[in-house]
Amino acid sequence: MKFGAIIVAGGHGVRAGGEIPKQYSLLCGRPVIRWSAEAFAVAGAAEIVIACSPDHADLCRSATVDVLGVRSVSGGATRTASVRQALAALGDVDAVLVHDAARPGLSVSLVHALIAELEAGAAAVAPALPAPDTLRRADASGRILEDVAREGVMRMQTPQAFHTEVLRSAYAALAVGASMSDDIAVVRMNGVDAKLIKGDAKLMKLTYPEDMAMLERMLGAERIICVGQGVDAHRFGEGSFVTLCGVQIPHSKGLVGHSDADAGWHALVDAILGALGEGDIGAHFPPSDPQWKGADSERFLRHAVELAERAGARIVHVDVTLLCERPKIGPYRDAMRARTAEVLGLPLGRVSIKATTTERMGFLGREEGLAAQATATVERSA
Ligand code: MG
Repeated sequence: MKFGAIIVAGGHGVRAGGEIPKQYSLLCGRPVIRWSAEAFAVAGAAEIVIACSPDHADLCRSATVDVLGVRSVSGGATRTASVRQALAALGDVDAVLVHDAARPGLSVSLVHALIAELEAGAAAVAPALPAPDTLRRADASGRILEDVAREGVMRMQTPQAFHTEVLRSAYAALAVGASMSDDIAVVRMNGVDAKLIKGDAKLMKLTYPEDMAMLERMLGAERIICVGQGVDAHRFGEGSFVTLCGVQIPHSKGLVGHSDADAGWHALVDAILGALGEGDIGAHFPPSDPQWKGADSERFLRHAVELAERAGARIVHVDVTLLCERPKIGPYRDAMRARTAEVLGLPLGRVSIKATTTERMGFLGREEGLAAQATATVERSA
C-alpha cells in the first residue's frame, strides 16, 4: 500500500524564556521533528508533508535536511486547519498517516502495524493506551465534581492512519473553521468507524519541560549533570546606580561596561555556556559589536536559556556570588532572585544569590569595581 505521512508541527509551544518551539529542540542530539520524519522515511513513506508555521520554515528545513521525501507547507491557525493544508498538498497515495511532531518516539514497527490494519480492511486506525489512573472531573480550583468511570477509557496517540479517500471526504464535509482535537474525531463526524491498536509509551507527547529528559531516558540515552562556572568584574565609574542580576540599585557610582555591566548575570551566562560547552559570553556577544552597547543583559541570559533549550538540556540550579564592599546587596537580594528565576523559568528554590566582601583587601576592597562568580548545574545528554 502506497502511503504518505503528514506531520503537524504548527505549534509555538516554548519553554519559559526560550524562543525555539519544542519540535525543533534537540532530543538525544537530533531535532524532535526529525525523529518522526526519519521513522516514516525508513518505514517507506512515499512522501512526508510537514505543516509548520511560516515563522519557522527555516528551522523546519534545517531540522529535516536530507530526510528522503520531506517537504513542508504553511500550517493554519489550528491543528485541523494545518492538516487540511497538508492534505491538499499531498500527492496520490492510498493511505495517509497524520502525526504530531511533539511525539518523536515513533517506531517503524508501529507504522507498519497501522498500515497492516488498513490493508486488512479498517477505514481508520490509531494507536491508544489505557488510562491507568483513577479518573475524576474537577473544576479549576481543584474541587472534585464527579468520578469518571475508567473502564474502556483510552488515551489517543498518533500517527492516525486512514485510507486517503476516507480522510479527504471527512475534511471536505467538515465545516471551514471547525477545530477538532485529532483526525479520528474528524472521520467519526463523517460517520466512519475507527479501530484502535496498542499504542506505545514512547509515543508520549512532549508537553512539559521535564518531558524531554523523561523521553531521553525512555529512549535509552545517557543524561549527565554538568556544572559550569563563570566569573566577571566591572570597574566603577560615573553614575547613580548599578544593575546587578537584573535589578537597579541606587549607588554613588555606576558601572563601566559595553552593555549594562551587570556582572552578576554576565557571570551566570558564562556559567550556563560553560555547562553546555558553548564558549563564553564574548564569543556570542562581541564587545566590538555596536549593537550590544548599553544592552540589557536580560538579552544575554535569555540567549543562554535558549541555547540550553535547543540542546535539549535542562538548567537545574544556579548560584551567583556578588563580591563588593558597596552597595549593600542584602536589601535587593530577593528581587534579584525573583528576576533571575523568572528569566530562567526556574522555581525560586533553585536560584541562589549571595554576596560577600573581601574585608577591604584588593581592588574590590578599594572599591575600584565589583565582581561576581556563578555556577550553573545543567542536566543534558552526554
Ligand atoms: Mg561583563
